[in-house]
Amino acid sequence: MSELNINDAVLTTRLDAVVNWGRKNSLWPMPFGVACCAIEFMSMMSSKYDLARFGAEAMRFSPRQSDMMLVLGTITNKMAPVLRTIYAQMAEPKWVISVGVCASSGGMYRTYATLQGIDRVIPVDVYVPGCPPRPESMIYGVMKLQEKIEKESLSMRKDHIARFYESLAQQEAYEAAKGVTAQQAIREMLADAAERGAGTIF
Ligand code: SF4
Repeated sequence: MSELNINDAVLTTRLDAVVNWGRKNSLWPMPFGVACCAIEFMSMMSSKYDLARFGAEAMRFSPRQSDMMLVLGTITNKMAPVLRTIYAQMAEPKWVISVGVCASSGGMYRTYATLQGIDRVIPVDVYVPGCPPRPESMIYGVMKLQEKIEKESLSMRKDHIARFYESLAQQEAYEAAKGVTAQQAIREMLADAAERGAGTIF
């Protein structure tokens, strides 16, 4: 029997599989922390919970150096354009985790000033329930995102992000045409979307 030489071995795989394996194990988180959920996030990053076990310890406060945004807290309508700008500036491909009920649905703040869910203005990949969610729940959210990344095709993510950029261009056109602020443009785009029966502007 001839001996198997490891140098002659050939490994075959799909490009999507190998790229997604790299992506899911090297997520760089960016906390968009505006309220109490951000405190739980600090806990998740600490040595006790240790997000480094999932390859996601390289936390950055610069959108250009991160690809996983965690929205932690109540987002007001005034903050919505900022959230969209930060998301637009993040490195591609990028993913979003909505942490806690405030970010996911406005939570207890059922008021005209609070955005009733960030998924109205940016694409969300995973929702973590709770008020606040425990660090374990956030870690579970990161694990669910890893599962999602593992299954998606490269072109799917690209199209997903492209739709957001189209809506950003529409928003800027709206601002220029009507002479309104970004906040007003988003509010009117949401109202138009609601008339069409859509819950989001992208
Ligand atoms: S979900 Fe609860 S803990 Fe999180 S920001 Fe809202 S009020 Fe604070």
